Amino acid sequence: MEPYRVKSVEEIPFLTAEERKDAILKADFNPYKMMASTVTIDLLTDSGCSAMSTKQWSAMMLGDESYAGSASFERYQSAVQDITGYKYVLPTHQGRACEKVLFNALVTEGSVIVNNNHYDTTKTNIALNKGIALDIAMVTDDTVDFPGNMDIDKLKEVLAEKGEQIPLVMITATNNKMRGQPVSMANIKAASSVCKAHGVPFILDGCRFAENSWFIKERENGYGDMTPREIAKEMFSYADGCMISAKKDANSNIGGVLAMNSEDLYERCVPYVIATEGHTTYGGLSGRDLEAVAVGLYEVLDESYLRYRRANLKFFEEELIRQGVPGVFPAGGHAIFLNANKLCPKIPADEFPGLTFAGLLYMESGVRCCDLGRLAFGPDAPDLIRLAVPRRVYTTEHLKYVARMIAQVTEKNKDRKSGLIMTKSPPHLKHLTASFKMKEEL
Ligand SMILES: *Cc1c(COP(=O)(O)O)cnc(C)c1O
Repeated sequence: MEPYRVKSVEEIPFLTAEERKDAILKADFNPYKMMASTVTIDLLTDSGCSAMSTKQWSAMMLGDESYAGSASFERYQSAVQDITGYKYVLPTHQGRACEKVLFNALVTEGSVIVNNNHYDTTKTNIALNKGIALDIAMVTDDTVDFPGNMDIDKLKEVLAEKGEQIPLVMITATNNKMRGQPVSMANIKAASSVCKAHGVPFILDGCRFAENSWFIKERENGYGDMTPREIAKEMFSYADGCMISAKKDANSNIGGVLAMNSEDLYERCVPYVIATEGHTTYGGLSGRDLEAVAVGLYEVLDESYLRYRRANLKFFEEELIRQGVPGVFPAGGHAIFLNANKLCPKIPADEFPGLTFAGLLYMESGVRCCDLGRLAFGPDAPDLIRLAVPRRVYTTEHLKYVARMIAQVTEKNKDRKSGLIMTKSPPHLKHLTASFKMKEEL
């Protein structure tokens, strides 16, 4: 059960079918263009929409808004140092700002950055610095214990061939692009020793470091008796630094963490933080935001929280399986992915079956989710729908409702033959900005 009780509630909107139809038409069938006031259950993302705790809210009242050297920064810095073990700490306004700073400092034209899988903003920030993002995840399916792992042989090969061009190697844990699947400690350790042998900095994209720690505890030999905090600390110890989106595993509404051991790297990052985020002791955040992150970093590693987080997702997964919904199982840490081509098998691939299903699901139930198929990741990507689960926000009753609605919409549309047509196709980030309409009258 949830290891907390409800003290403050937020009403969720219930709309009529007619109102929902209007809302989705107004949003051109793009979930990212919908207004939250029209959404009953919002599974669009797990980013920035966590429920904060009474301790976080009360810490925010102590926010010190001094321009330089605030007491809030001291508390934030000390939490980051304590949890990661890194010496140098830079706040940023969110994860992608860490990427921008780090890549401005390290990436030049023709640089190759190696990662198990680059998250989309990571890839974009590398491209904007004229570098090349190389994904070398292990080719596997989701049934192994750690489907997020990096291919270490490939890493050795790439470093031997292109070592000169590689300013840093990263591992993303959990592996967001690989459906939030975890990376093993052994894999992180192996990547670390290969990087050390080549003298290349190794940075952890730890946006979901706590969820990854919990998977290691559950699945990897020798970690069952360790606390998530000890496991996280060990993960960080193999890397030279990390970036974390506090919007994910720090249970905060905004914030980022860039931390490292090298004084030289820190000094190279500083001017970019100051120029684009703000002074090194606030990095685009108010003092109260720093306070929320400082508290959230500890809470997200709390054993009872992580046990519940895992159970909450597992419950959702089992409920979907029980209803016969085709998904990618076992699911990862923060979201469940469904196979659009099995949900709506008769809709042609070029008519966006995933987005079509997301639209139909919304109209039937008020549930918002997103399509993460070829629109987001290119023509070779599988057609997947993502149901992301925000932290501490929805109860099992909410998730039960979603599972039931998905089963109902699948059954109703199994013979549906037509999907959506793109009516406006902007050149970048289509999945966030494009417009669509139903090919046939609704
Ligand atoms: C979300 C995310 C980022 C970017 O963080 P933001 O806070 O959204 O800017 C980077 N890497 C991974 C793996 C992520 O999931």
